[in-house]
Amino acid sequence: MDFKEKIRVILDYPQEGIRFKDITTLLQDGPTYKAAIQEMAKFAADKQVDIVVGPEARGFVIGCPLAIELGAGFAPVRKKGKLPYETIQAEYTLEYGKDALAMHKDAIKPGQRVLIADDLLATGGTIQTTIDLVKQLGGEIVGLAFLIELTYVGGREKIDSDYDIFTLVQY
Ligand code: IMP
Repeated sequence: MDFKEKIRVILDYPQEGIRFKDITTLLQDGPTYKAAIQEMAKFAADKQVDIVVGPEARGFVIGCPLAIELGAGFAPVRKKGKLPYETIQAEYTLEYGKDALAMHKDAIKPGQRVLIADDLLATGGTIQTTIDLVKQLGGEIVGLAFLIELTYVGGREKIDSDYDIFTLVQY
């Protein structure tokens, strides 16, 4: 299946010079969305995943159906201040200043096998912060899965360790 043809590229969004990959056009197409999730699930099928972890908001759109397909649980990563129970946090650097992502402190039990999922790997900043959170909770990261990888940004090389990474579509 040609997943790339279903992804809309928008020039100069959110700022000039950016070619934004808009996955809403892929999500609108039921058979393509399902096939994409199934391809990502194949990557993780023999990894005995206990729980999928995805950062808001598009990490939910990919991570939740992936969790169901794998028969695994799901745990959300959110911007700080959005989760109702006690949280742990990890900081990440923005263009100007810092922000933090959070997870519930009991979202993962130590030793659980974790698959991290998101829509897109660019600089790797979001996913590195997610990795830091999973490690704080004692999860064992068995793989990272993305719908899209922007290979020209080189995020894969910036991730702190040699994880098994799957990306469905590359630019
Ligand atoms: P990174 O932290 O630089 O790897 O960026 C990845 C995060 O930014 C993901 O959570 C994406 O949702 C978002 N993102 C960055 N560029 C794009 C894009 O072109 N399309 C959709 N999301 C993007």
